Amino acid sequence: MNQSRELLKTVFGYDDFRPGQAEIVSAIVGGENVLAIMPTGGGKSLCYQLPALRRDGLTLVISPLIALMRDQVAALRQNGVAAAALTSSTPPDERDATLADLRQGRLKLLYMAPERLGSAADLLRGCNVTLIAVDEAHCVSQWGHDFRPDYLRIGEVRADLGHPQLAAFTATADAETRNDIAARLFDAEPRTFLFGFDRPNLFLAFANKGNSTRQLIDLAARHHGESGIIYCASRRKVEQLAETLQAKGINALPYHAGLPHDVRQAHQDRFAEEEGVVMTATVAFGMGVDKPDVRFVAHADLPASVEAYYQEIGRAGRDGLPADTLTLYGLEDIRLRRRQIDETDAPAERKRADHLKLNALLAIAEAPRCRRQTLLTYFGENSGPCGNCDLCQNPPALIDGTVPAQKALSAMLRTGERFGIEHLIAILLGEATDRVTQFGHDKLPTFGVGTEFDKAQWRGAFRQIYAAGFAAVDPEYGGWKITPEGRELLRGDVEFSLRADTLKPAKVRKERRTVAAQVSTEDAPLLEALKAKRRELAEEAHVPAYVIFADRSLIDMATRRPATRKEMAEVHGVGQRKLQRFGDIFLDVIRNN
Ligand code: ADP
Ligand code: ZN
Repeated sequence: MNQSRELLKTVFGYDDFRPGQAEIVSAIVGGENVLAIMPTGGGKSLCYQLPALRRDGLTLVISPLIALMRDQVAALRQNGVAAAALTSSTPPDERDATLADLRQGRLKLLYMAPERLGSAADLLRGCNVTLIAVDEAHCVSQWGHDFRPDYLRIGEVRADLGHPQLAAFTATADAETRNDIAARLFDAEPRTFLFGFDRPNLFLAFANKGNSTRQLIDLAARHHGESGIIYCASRRKVEQLAETLQAKGINALPYHAGLPHDVRQAHQDRFAEEEGVVMTATVAFGMGVDKPDVRFVAHADLPASVEAYYQEIGRAGRDGLPADTLTLYGLEDIRLRRRQIDETDAPAERKRADHLKLNALLAIAEAPRCRRQTLLTYFGENSGPCGNCDLCQNPPALIDGTVPAQKALSAMLRTGERFGIEHLIAILLGEATDRVTQFGHDKLPTFGVGTEFDKAQWRGAFRQIYAAGFAAVDPEYGGWKITPEGRELLRGDVEFSLRADTLKPAKVRKERRTVAAQVSTEDAPLLEALKAKRRELAEEAHVPAYVIFADRSLIDMATRRPATRKEMAEVHGVGQRKLQRFGDIFLDVIRNN
């Protein structure tokens, strides 16, 4: 382990392992076949990169995303590690150089896309592959949405190479996918590591859709000059929102699977390389976004499940610095997601599981207290209130919702469980609309019993009743029905609290909040100067800025103000190689500012 720690500092420039890294590295160095589940941003790549340096032969890394491979190879090379990638987009001269390096055993790590595996088998056979690392290992599972048929060939290729050691990595949490990976990639049960799902640097917030465009513009404006992602449920919305943001002077770009390939690629590159780009995107933009300094992720619409939510917000703040998340949702979103699940031709069992995953997300959305606690409980972790979510910062007032919910449920029941929300609210409020009188619903005992709330508040209450599982909505006609749980509530066997605040659309927050200034005002000019130098070097080298130094390294530099190379070596993320290449350049900047 001491040797690994040494490499951690001298090559990668880090003082400590992140949670889980030390255990995983030591198991891989010890020769075990490993399946590691770590949250996005947890630092999975280091878990195979470091062991690769501690062994003879070549480590073959299988990764589904070309952009991601490119960045990782660039980052490794900056750290003085012999690494290369072979993909469909590798230029011929670079490919020839890589092949020559391979033949002479000069590479420690080779990144390869799964679809190249078949054609590369001959090549790899002579390369003494001693470790295969599989990134995004959930791509092997047909359950998931990221299934890649080529991943199924990994076993074949491994056998062909004389069965080298195997390490697989993923951020996907659920047990089903985990088992699937173990069964399809490994021949015996792998040593499995499951590490913390908490991402304490992410601020968690949900809000009702009020004026959602305004809410998103405000969020982007609070993060002016920083990178962010705004996920939308439809392509049309992606494009509209990008236009709206652009009109407000925000550097927004759209991304969805319907755009031509080269446009998508260009936008993805700009997001990676420029500062301050806000990507409005469908979930097609995701896997492979390994930009560490994304400062916010927003959902303009409710994500599909708690897993999707977790993975998508996980793309913010991978550098460990504070990052902001905001999820907007309304009753329409919940219905849309339910309908999407019901409309697939998946087996009934699968649909039930998907509904439960959506319910888990709704429980977070309507949580009466700490959102992170609710989220972590779902992943099987216990924790106290986090202090870094909207509910910890502004504990919501709860009111007894049992009686209002009983009124709403009884309105459904007495009208035959086939009417929509507006009709039911009209009955509760005692409004004799044409439709209400036409059906004689103004004669019902429930007519006019719900005047404690106005129309908007009733809509909020219905959403919470629905989210809590007391009512269901017919996906085709929008009629509200009572569930078995709802009957218990109606009988008075269970109680129900309503969050008073979510009965109304959220007020748009005006104040600037959460992401604390990264350095004191005194150090800010120096940080700016360091960033400018980094930008210059990155442009020269045609790599994203963070490949030169992460934000965190620059912040550390601006705060410590090292004056000598020795002091510079103490800075976060400064390994020997970067010290040699960039140490003096950045020491100069510090001296002159
Ligand atoms: P993921 O698990 O999502 O693949 P990465 O491997 O891309 O995460 O790592 C996320 C970020 O964390 C990267 O910028 C990486 O350089 C950084 N990182 C990894 N390990 C450490 C560590 N021990 N200390 C500090 N930063 C680290
Ligand atoms: Zn909290």
